[in-house]
Amino acid sequence: MRVHHLCVATMCPLAGRLVNTHGRLVCHALLLELDAGLVLVATGLGEAALADPTRLGPTRWVSGFDLDPDGTALSRIRALGLDPADVRHVVLTHLDPDHAGGLSDFPEAAVHVHTLELEMARRRAGPHRVRYRPAQWAHGPKWQPSEPSGESWLGFEAVRDLPGLPPEVLLVPLFGHSPGHCGVAVDCGDRWLLHCGDAYFHAGEMDRDTPRSSIGLSIFQRLACDDHRARLHNRDRLRALKRDQGDHVEVFCAHDPDELDRYG
Ligand SMILES: [Zn+2]
Repeated sequence: MRVHHLCVATMCPLAGRLVNTHGRLVCHALLLELDAGLVLVATGLGEAALADPTRLGPTRWVSGFDLDPDGTALSRIRALGLDPADVRHVVLTHLDPDHAGGLSDFPEAAVHVHTLELEMARRRAGPHRVRYRPAQWAHGPKWQPSEPSGESWLGFEAVRDLPGLPPEVLLVPLFGHSPGHCGVAVDCGDRWLLHCGDAYFHAGEMDRDTPRSSIGLSIFQRLACDDHRARLHNRDRLRALKRDQGDHVEVFCAHDPDELDRYG
C-alpha cells in the first residue's frame, strides 16, 4: 500500500494567531493506493465550493476558507500523476463542509461514513440545520453507511469489513465533535495510521506530559461540538493510545499544520 498525505483545504480563521502559531488550519487527507483502486480519506472543500462558496454555509464568514483551485483534492491527486476517476472509495470522518465538500468531485466513488452521521445529516434537526449542507450530496453519492460490529481495535469499537475495502481500512467511532464522528485507521504493515478527523484540533492536545491547546481552538471546539463530554472522553482515550501504543500507531488530526508537515 502506498500512502499520500495531502492538504485538501486551507483555512485562515478570523481568530488568526489565537488558533495556532501559523494562524492557519489545514485539511489533512489521506490518499491510499490499493489493489481496490484509490481510496481518499477526506475530500476538503471541493471544486463546487470554488464556484459557489455559499455551499459552505454561514461558517465561511469566520473560517477563512482559501478557495485556491490548486488546493482541492482533485488538483492534489492530478499533481501526483494519478487520475481522480480512479478514486473508488471515499472514507469520511464526518460530514462537515471542510471534509465532505468535495464529494461531487468523486461521483462514482462509494462513500463510507458512520450510519448515525448520515442519518443526522439527512435529518438536519435543530443546530444540525446549519452544520450539514445538503447541496454537497445533491448529486446522490453512493453512500455506504456502516456501524461497528465484532472485534474491537486496540480497545476501540471499530467498523471492520467496509464494503469493497480490504481489512486494512477501519472506521473507529470517536463521537463528540459531530453525532457520528469517526476516526479512520489504516494498517500499513509495520504501523497503523489513525486519522482522528476533528476529535482534536491541536497537536499539543496529544502531549503526554503537558496537554495543551490554544484559546481560539478551545473556544471553537466547545462551540462546534455536538457532545462536549463525549468529545473530551475520546480525546483523552486518544492521548492514552498515543502514550501506550505510540511506537506502532501514528495519531494525527485533520487540521493541525504541524502534524501534516511531519509527512511533508
Ligand atoms: Zn473539520
